[in-house]
Amino acid sequence: MKDAILVLNAGSSSIKFSLFTTDGIALDLDCKGQIESLFDDPHFIASNPQGNPLSEKHWGKGFQLGHSKALEHLNLFLAQELSHLRLIAAGHRVVHGGTQHWGPIRIDQSVLTTLQALCPLAPLHQPHNLLPVRLLLAQQPELVQIACFDTAFHQGNDELVQTFAIPLELRQAGVRRYGFHGLSYEYIASVLPQYDVQAASGRTIVLHLGNGSSMCALVQGRSVASTMGFTALDGLPMGTRCGAIDPGVLLYLMRERGMNADAIEKLLYTQSGLLGVSGISGDMRTLLASQEPAAEFAIDLYLHRIRREIGSLAAQMGGLDAIVFTAGIGENCAPIRARVMNDSGWLGIRPNQAANRLGGPRISAANSRISAWTIPTNEELMIARHTLKAVRR
Ligand code: ADP
Repeated sequence: MKDAILVLNAGSSSIKFSLFTTDGIALDLDCKGQIESLFDDPHFIASNPQGNPLSEKHWGKGFQLGHSKALEHLNLFLAQELSHLRLIAAGHRVVHGGTQHWGPIRIDQSVLTTLQALCPLAPLHQPHNLLPVRLLLAQQPELVQIACFDTAFHQGNDELVQTFAIPLELRQAGVRRYGFHGLSYEYIASVLPQYDVQAASGRTIVLHLGNGSSMCALVQGRSVASTMGFTALDGLPMGTRCGAIDPGVLLYLMRERGMNADAIEKLLYTQSGLLGVSGISGDMRTLLASQEPAAEFAIDLYLHRIRREIGSLAAQMGGLDAIVFTAGIGENCAPIRARVMNDSGWLGIRPNQAANRLGGPRISAANSRISAWTIPTNEELMIARHTLKAVRR
């Protein structure tokens, strides 16, 4: 019987999973899938590594499945799948590790309590990330569970990069820049040498452009800066999150609009970004297909912020050798990549438009001083690698 590792990534409206088999060294995908739209028209799908469906279920429009029931359904599917496998551990994506957790860690009740305390720092993610951890701890207390943090990859950022210009007492209490999407950046850094040795040993900006969007500056494969900060709200505008905003706006909202913390949180996390600006959708495909000027303006603003952050991260590194696009928009959306590359022409990026339309992986011209790439991210594999390593330790 082969050993298996379950990877769970539980978000606000979906639960993604992957099951890997392992001989103790290699990791092979056995199956993967997700339950999405948990609160309206829930849909479960599991596929084999070739993408062929193994199991599927629709609950119907208006049905509120919720996280606990979704996990029950996932358990039923996994019980079948695991009948010929021995589950040795579960690895979880946990967005925030705070100042205490900088590497993958085995979760027990006391670790869970410290992670729970970080929920206000990632209200859109952390509570959902921890729900399956709590359920598994109750149902299978002997199962090894490993938390892998999105903040961990940025641990080595220079103190200057981490610091907000606020008094020492608050900084010592952990109010600082952390950075997120670290599992994605770590995976890209791990495969970059296979694509471009020069970029891997030089200065690269990775653009993780999905519902959540951020960018990370890598020097020799290590994070030196990123666009997200104390929370995953900072930096680029995203599907529904505002990105960087003058903190004075929050004071204005409280004083002049009488908004409390809950109302501001809802505004900044779920009603802003591409959705808030366009008034149409937070989904890039919908905006690209729309003829409405507001949709075009939202995309223009997204690109404007990317252009500024590329300049900022290149300045931080004192130059640039490569850029890498990843995640839903980065991997699939040639028009957005083309505009980012054109906007960065001043840095020395020359796009290869035909290669870009075909999806790369290399999408810059042969004579481009800075190379540009499209590389699919694989946060699940990164979590499985960390989990296996932790189990072997
Ligand atoms: P998450 O942050 O939830 O993991 P994803 O990485 O899956 O998000 O990215 C979702 C985004 O990717 C959505 O805005 C979606 O419209 C966009 N996207 C996916 N495929 C395409 C495509 N072919 N063209 C343009 N945008 C796409």
